Amino acid sequence: MYYIDPHIHMVSRTTDDYETLAKMGCVALSEPAFWAGYDRGSVDGFRDYFRQLTDFESRRASNYGIQHFTWLCINAKEAENVELSREVIAMIPEFLDCSGVLGIGEIGLNKNTRNEAIVFLEHIDLAMKTDEQILIHTPHLEDKYQGTRMILDMLGSDSRISRQRVLVDHVEEHTIRPVLEAGYWAGMTLYPVSKCTPARAADMVEIYGPERLLVNSAGDWGPSKPTAVPDFILEMRRRGHDEQLIRRIVYENPLAFFGQSRNFVFQRPI
Ligand SMILES: [Zn+2]
Repeated sequence: MYYIDPHIHMVSRTTDDYETLAKMGCVALSEPAFWAGYDRGSVDGFRDYFRQLTDFESRRASNYGIQHFTWLCINAKEAENVELSREVIAMIPEFLDCSGVLGIGEIGLNKNTRNEAIVFLEHIDLAMKTDEQILIHTPHLEDKYQGTRMILDMLGSDSRISRQRVLVDHVEEHTIRPVLEAGYWAGMTLYPVSKCTPARAADMVEIYGPERLLVNSAGDWGPSKPTAVPDFILEMRRRGHDEQLIRRIVYENPLAFFGQSRNFVFQRPI
């Protein structure tokens, strides 16, 4: 089955991973900007990263027949430096017309601090002024519930936002309902050590149905599994779900969400 991974950090992965993903049916993926594992020191560090995301990485993916899309921002972990964050936000428009750029992301909260909220709102303002879609990271573990509530409150108080153009990612059992009920897309991240397993994701599909639901691997430089979406497909098949439902979640839903972005041009595989 062809599938799309809507959240994976391929700059941290090898060409062997690209080859494996291609063999497993991955035809496209989207790569949000994220934390490098260390704080970047200057706006030029981000400019170089955005060049990597919009140019080199898409060429590397295309060698394996995979279409590469991306999202740009300064992540929440670096948002404590509000001055640098503002410089990055002011620079992002240099890249918004590059092919494959789907919007602003992954923005969000990490420790739910005041500075993170300030930088989150300034990203939202940029997205609204430039008519971009938004991909949102919700915090980890004990910070997730409160952080998700804060994010939904901030989004809900901006009347310019079209909710069907916002993806709230890394939802779990205790956060998925308010995200879907408010009209946003929800992403379930399949991680080996935290977030969600394929079985828990399948449970949530059975409870909430496939509408505005995505699954991703969020593969990165830490413990993660870039082939987690095929694991989800297998789990769904094991439970006897029909291929049409599975295909909707792993292929048609990402296309529907991405398709709202002006830079989304997709070559359907034959
Ligand atoms: Zn991520």
